[in-house]
Amino acid sequence: MRVAVYARVSSEDQAERGTIENQLEFARKYCDLHELDVVEWYRDDGVTGTIPLEMRDEGRRLLEDAKAGRFELLLIYRLDRLGRSARIILNAVYDLEQHGVKIRSMTEPFDTGDPNGRFLLTILAGVADLERETILERMWYGANRAARAGKWLGGIVPYGYRVNEEGYLEVNEDPLPGMDMSEADVVRLIYRLIADQGYSTIKVADYLNALGVPPSYTKDGRQIKRGKRKVNTAGIWRPGRIRNMVVNTTYKGIHYYGKRTNKKRELIPREVPALVTEETWEKAQQVLHDNQLESMKNAKRQYLLRGLIKCGVCGLTYHGTAYGGPGGKPKAYYVCGGKTAYRGPLDGKCTSKNVPQEWIEDMVWQSCVDFINNPGDAIKELAASMEERKSQKAALTAELEMVKNAAKEKEVEKQSILDLYRKRIIGSVDVEQQLQQIAREKAALDQRAKDLEKQIEAEECLAQQFDTAEELLADLKAKLEANPPFEVRREIVRALVKEIIIDTKPGDNGRPRAIVTARYTFSKVVTRTARDS
Ligand SMILES: [Zn+2]
Repeated sequence: MRVAVYARVSSEDQAERGTIENQLEFARKYCDLHELDVVEWYRDDGVTGTIPLEMRDEGRRLLEDAKAGRFELLLIYRLDRLGRSARIILNAVYDLEQHGVKIRSMTEPFDTGDPNGRFLLTILAGVADLERETILERMWYGANRAARAGKWLGGIVPYGYRVNEEGYLEVNEDPLPGMDMSEADVVRLIYRLIADQGYSTIKVADYLNALGVPPSYTKDGRQIKRGKRKVNTAGIWRPGRIRNMVVNTTYKGIHYYGKRTNKKRELIPREVPALVTEETWEKAQQVLHDNQLESMKNAKRQYLLRGLIKCGVCGLTYHGTAYGGPGGKPKAYYVCGGKTAYRGPLDGKCTSKNVPQEWIEDMVWQSCVDFINNPGDAIKELAASMEERKSQKAALTAELEMVKNAAKEKEVEKQSILDLYRKRIIGSVDVEQQLQQIAREKAALDQRAKDLEKQIEAEECLAQQFDTAEELLADLKAKLEANPPFEVRREIVRALVKEIIIDTKPGDNGRPRAIVTARYTFSKVVTRTARDS
């Protein structure tokens, strides 16, 4: 029987499985042992098994020689030398058999010369193929393909979603404990507040905390697992968390897989169920962006009269704001809080005029400096004011005490109502009514307590630290001479300014003008009309 030997290594194989010489050496020994005569050697060195036999240099020569009838048996080291897929192996076997050539693997138990061998060949060719597929899939495509198909592959499950039994992300519409809302509803609410109503993340966090919405699903206050990580379920909504949620593309239906790893890795976008429309999502990004610009503008400026100016039209406090002026230069104003949307009795429609920051601050500061340098008889007024402030603070503190006690009393009232109910003296309808009434009263008391605490805090200024007006004045004078920085000027202003009221009235030409009335602790009342702003 005339025998041929075919050997092949791909460039990758060489490192792992030795060179082509190993296969040829094996074949020589094999033929010696089995007393076979080799008529020709074929060696495809550095050729991949993914291309068909007839397209390899030596493979083509092998087929031509087979066709010419130069040999009857082909020896191969292993089946996968013929090819790396079942199709290529079986095609090669078929082509060779067309020319009456049998194939024998020197290391595997088959020979195409017998039926069992042929069957085994088919199986082994199939296994080789499958093995290759599996290896490739594991190495390259496995995780990615599953991710593209939408499977959740671990990590914290985003708020508003859950992972179902099949391992896919789905919208979580389960009502939160004790609430009519689901996590998904909370997410939709957050986007609505920001995109449609321009809420800041701080305002949203305050609102969710006031509603008592738990930041994540919590059962008996225990830690729960969201994905792989354990998270502490206690706590409150914070603006940073709201921001992170709003910028998360998952909520518009696109989740980027792979972004959490430190290693460089492909980011795979995949579709997940959306909670908000693309339009709403984009709008919310815009609002976040605008709000950030606004706060950056304001952060650069310090407002000397912060909290000291009241609106004569609606009663709310003026606050500092910078607008982009002509040429992109921001101009700073004090603006009534009642003009900001959704605040105050006039619901964002206060008609008060804005006042330029520089103008009103210069005016107030100059009055303070004049007084410190030439107090004259006004020092008596200052002394009286200091006494008044002290007694005012005492009065406020006393009221706060009383309000707090009254709030505590409400708790006692609640208990007695429940006692009456337990003793079956009153019915459930009455209980309900009484408890609601008590809750309303308690809420009003709590609000008053908060207001009082704020007022008391506002009263705590430099003036409180001195027993006499002379001592205070000496201190102010020393500060003034040291060219005071903003914080110290602010201290001086707080010690000397009682309040500033801005009225808005029609001027001579019929257009509204701002009229500023400043009251000082040294009793000089200054009224000025603002230049046209
Ligand atoms: Zn106003």
